[in-house]
Amino acid sequence: MLYRLREAGFGAYLVGGAVRDLLLGMHPKDFDVATDATPEQVKSLFRNCRLIGRRFRLAHVVYGREIIEVATFRANVDDGSGDREVEDGRLVRDNVYGTIEDDAVRRDFTCNALYYAIEDFSVRDYTGGFEDVQAKVMRLIGDPETRYREDPVRMLRAIRLAAKLDFEIEPGTAAPIPVLAPLLGEAAPARLFEEMLKMFLSGHAVASFERLEAHGLLGALLPESAAALRSNRTGALRRMVLQGLANTDARVAADEPVSPAFLFALLLWPAYCRALAGLQAQGMHAEEAQRRAADRVTLHQVQTIALPKRFSLPMQEIWLLQSRFGSRQRKRVFRLLANPRFRAAYDFLVLRQAASDSHAADVEFWKQAQLSSGDELSANLEATGAAGEGDDAPARKRRRRRRRGPAPAAGE
Ligand code: ATP
Ligand code: MG
Repeated sequence: MLYRLREAGFGAYLVGGAVRDLLLGMHPKDFDVATDATPEQVKSLFRNCRLIGRRFRLAHVVYGREIIEVATFRANVDDGSGDREVEDGRLVRDNVYGTIEDDAVRRDFTCNALYYAIEDFSVRDYTGGFEDVQAKVMRLIGDPETRYREDPVRMLRAIRLAAKLDFEIEPGTAAPIPVLAPLLGEAAPARLFEEMLKMFLSGHAVASFERLEAHGLLGALLPESAAALRSNRTGALRRMVLQGLANTDARVAADEPVSPAFLFALLLWPAYCRALAGLQAQGMHAEEAQRRAADRVTLHQVQTIALPKRFSLPMQEIWLLQSRFGSRQRKRVFRLLANPRFRAAYDFLVLRQAASDSHAADVEFWKQAQLSSGDELSANLEATGAAGEGDDAPARKRRRRRRRGPAPAAGE
């Protein structure tokens, strides 16, 4: 691509994350090209090219499963002639074309503003990014506060890239973050959702979470969970979240699938527990309280992060199924095992052990239940005297067991 553009008389450079990652000896996951050709000129050179974007017009050139993003050099200064629009200090359209130096200074971090040139195999550096990559420093180009106000998502990018690259955030770049954190509440919820997935499902979830906390961004992203974590004095919920994120990182490292539904079930579990406790304290029946708490937490959260229904519904199911693991009633046991969300809910139960050891018996029972055949399981349930009752049995069953066992704690 770079050669084709060059042969057509244009300047063309590999830029951004790919150059940075290559300098660090990492494998770039995507490639971006910057050029002085306009999107239309790029399109005329490549058959496999689509023009996309309004806020930010780009050419996508498709090679099999790879998409290479080709962006025309942009300038930050607007003399009014170009297509640039700022609302309340925020960029809503950014299509003013400029020189390579102009393009460099409007990028976010110095480590992201390096250009690899094929004509002499050099790296062009207009912002000091080369030294910052060597020193492993994230440094915002220009005045940090202005740059964050232009695009608050840059605060998250600072955290995400620092976590991924194991960089330090330079003090001047870090200082405004806790102060400007509330601006994230005004960022586009769909963009925040994408950013969350990149941050937590790319193998650096633990590092990202710890940095979000350290830089005061957790409360802006997940307000109710952050509040619940703060008020959980034993730190049990935080332990569970960190354990879950560590598992996620291990899965990514092993190339195993990870799911946004499970991730958000984990991140919002503290909020759910808190909402549930509140509703039950008002005397609401357990099942009703669970549904209400799940709905309320979801409804509040999507105002900041646009969690699509296809993820929020399974997330809620993972929560609601947690209350079913106590049952040993035959029909219910088999029904739960057949639930398409059983495995995710069971994995979640296992994770809850990080917060409380009161789940050990349930974990053991359901682990065995998965390993045994249907007949074995049936026989096992018979033996414990829990089998063969009708659908209305569980309530009776529980009452009977309670009378035998110690009195349940108040409010149970
Ligand atoms: P990743 O490893 O996640 O791909 P990246 O730096 O390549 O990291 P991209 O989102 O692919 O991130 O962006 C490509 C490049 O575009 C960045 O390296 C940066 O130069 C520029 N860029 C991206 N987002 C912004 C932003 N919000 N403000 C300014 N420049 C940005
Ligand atoms: Mg990239």
